[in-house]
Amino acid sequence: MAGKSKRAAKVDEHGVLLVAPPKTISNKEHLQRLNYLFHLSTFHTIVNDQDENNALARMYAKNLDLIQKKTKSSLAPGLKRTLCKACQRTLIPNRTVRLGVLNDSKQKTPVNRVLVLECTCGKTKRFPIGKNPSYQAHGEKASNLFFFQK
Ligand SMILES: [Zn+2]
Repeated sequence: MAGKSKRAAKVDEHGVLLVAPPKTISNKEHLQRLNYLFHLSTFHTIVNDQDENNALARMYAKNLDLIQKKTKSSLAPGLKRTLCKACQRTLIPNRTVRLGVLNDSKQKTPVNRVLVLECTCGKTKRFPIGKNPSYQAHGEKASNLFFFQK
């Protein structure tokens, strides 16, 4: 006798497994603190345009980096891409970072395009965008997000 289980797996039309979001979040206070520090750093970078060194914003970003390391929390990939590892600036286009697309290959094929972010301190970040322009990190993919069940 096989009765129907009440907890059958639900799959939507795209094949995504629908799972209830977690009821508790571990290290919730740490994540809230990291989020708040990132918002403070971004806010002070945008608002305070007299200070070219972005001292206050960099201090908040430095605290964010220290707390993230101390609590062994992981930052979202999109958040990590907006922080300079060398000078702790929040990378905001036309304010603290210059954007450009380079193609160093001899044939200049579009596959070899590289997005270059150059911070005010001179440090550069390079992201290959030619091969797969719609690339998303594992945590950013829609199939890895939680969906609410009704
Ligand atoms: Zn920098």
